[in-house]
Amino acid sequence: MRNDLPPRRPGAVRTRLLSVIGVVGVGAVAGSLLLWHAQVGDFLGLAADKEPVVSTVSAPAIGAPPASTPSTSTPTPTRRPTYPPTTPPKTPSTSPTKRKTTEPTTTAVREESINGLSPKLKARLKKAMAAARADGITISITSARRSASKQQRLLNAAIKKYGSYKVATRWVLPPKYSAHVQGKAVDIGPAAAMTWLNKNGWRYGVCRRYDNEPWHFEALTAPGTKCPPREPHAVAKAD
Ligand SMILES: [Zn+2]
Repeated sequence: MRNDLPPRRPGAVRTRLLSVIGVVGVGAVAGSLLLWHAQVGDFLGLAADKEPVVSTVSAPAIGAPPASTPSTSTPTPTRRPTYPPTTPPKTPSTSPTKRKTTEPTTTAVREESINGLSPKLKARLKKAMAAARADGITISITSARRSASKQQRLLNAAIKKYGSYKVATRWVLPPKYSAHVQGKAVDIGPAAAMTWLNKNGWRYGVCRRYDNEPWHFEALTAPGTKCPPREPHAVAKAD
């Protein structure tokens, strides 16, 4: 029994070893083949990826030769989209919109906007507002330039309120006399801002004009010079 065993063992070991070597060898070969196949597949895959690009690019240019068109037509589509959005559309699109926005704003500026005021009053008021802000005072514009129709409506309402044209015009002048319609007057608030501007406005050439309207200011003096004496109230010259 013992003598029989040794010959069997080497044989068994050999067969096992051979089989192991064979399995490993086959596995290695198979593995290397798979790897190689995978590499080839990747290469083919990459090559295949390139092909559709070429075919799609060449597809639009049906009449043109397929070999030369992809190379020439590929850069042109990329250039074409970049050029029109950046240069040509911007210039025409911005200039019309600028014109469109400037034209209506000059005619239909909000009554509370500083932009409706005359350049002189606007510049002076801006400086005054900045100085007031530095003092902790916020000047709010309640009424700057008014349309003639708005001024007329205000006058009509004032006539109803005060009972006569004469008294009404102490508060609201007719459109043709109103400094607001000309963009040469501004009404501000709140009370602290009125007080500040009444005290400091002369530095910027902005003056309170009427005793009865502490909110109403005009550019009545040269900046840094004393404001003229106040008038009791507005007076309609005629009409
Ligand atoms: Zn006013």
